[in-house]
Amino acid sequence: MNDKRKKRAGRPLWIAAAFLALFTAALVAVESNLAAETFDGPVERAPFENGRFVNPEIRGQEPGTKEFLRWVSSRKPGPWEKWVEIEPGPAPPQRVDDLRVTFVNHSTVLLQYGGLNILTDPIWSKRTSPVSFIGPKRVHDPGLRWEDLPPIDAVVISHDHYDHLDMPTLKRLQADHRPRFFAGLGNAAVLRRHGLRQVSELDWWDQVPLTHEIKLNFVPAQHFSGRGMFDRHKTLWGGYVLTGPPGVVYFAGDTGWSSHFEQVHARFGPPRLAMLPIGAFQPRWFMHPMHIDPHEAVRAHLLLEAGTSMAIHFGTFRLGDDGRLEPVEVLADALRDQNVNPDRFWALTPGESRDVPAAAPTERLAKL
Ligand code: ZN
Ligand code: ZN
Repeated sequence: MNDKRKKRAGRPLWIAAAFLALFTAALVAVESNLAAETFDGPVERAPFENGRFVNPEIRGQEPGTKEFLRWVSSRKPGPWEKWVEIEPGPAPPQRVDDLRVTFVNHSTVLLQYGGLNILTDPIWSKRTSPVSFIGPKRVHDPGLRWEDLPPIDAVVISHDHYDHLDMPTLKRLQADHRPRFFAGLGNAAVLRRHGLRQVSELDWWDQVPLTHEIKLNFVPAQHFSGRGMFDRHKTLWGGYVLTGPPGVVYFAGDTGWSSHFEQVHARFGPPRLAMLPIGAFQPRWFMHPMHIDPHEAVRAHLLLEAGTSMAIHFGTFRLGDDGRLEPVEVLADALRDQNVNPDRFWALTPGESRDVPAAAPTERLAKL
């Protein structure tokens, strides 16, 4: 073999090696940009083992990569329109002494509570994704125009999935409103790295004062976390409970069914308002450990003895196999099946605002 031919024969190998090196470098760069930073504790209350948080009631039974691949290779997604034209709601009042909610989209709710303005899991972005050009895309505009937001005092983040921790929106909030940001343990480093200032990370059952009368509590949920390929369960997920003069308000975040609903009820009593997820529930075999369905949401409403409940996590981003309208339709069936007055469990349209009624007489769980 002459020199030229030898060179040619060797070429594919080094080209492949160069590609591999480049690919690995890109992967490391993307991963270090996306993923949560390593969190070593200490953790007092949420179960935490070998650097990862644990769902105590489904330990070892969570769907993994195998189940994920089985789902994506056998998906039967329900219908979603490409785009739904909506008219954004009117600008909410600057401040509300008692309790008013505005549904923005997905799990984003503007809570006006005892004079404070609080946003839950705010997302105004086009996509729930690490990049702007790929990933689940919103099918309608946010229900509230950015410029119509009243001054935001606090932002509560349930967990680090892209549809809940949307960095571009959080950065905009930092620039325009300078609120306090709250998230589960392990999230502060990445939030601070992106320029957010007043960040607090919380363990389950932690309580922090927002004013001398209003307290914010981080409470358990059954879910998971992760933004990159190797950071599953490295940051803590959960829900929030507000206590103060307007009463108890519960934001469940993303969650499957577990005894945490009973625990929240036992500790805080019946909430005046419970915000409960109803979407991304299909297919049940895959989703049920991590996402309750509308029937379970109604069961949670009854178990909690909530005065009013409000649906979240539906209709904006196609995440599960449920059709766009399916969660709300199944919610209506579930309310009928479980004898709950539909006026007590709202599914608001984006931009819709309501004053939350003072605690109504409780509807007890008929029979567990
Ligand atoms: Zn999630
Ligand atoms: Zn979600």
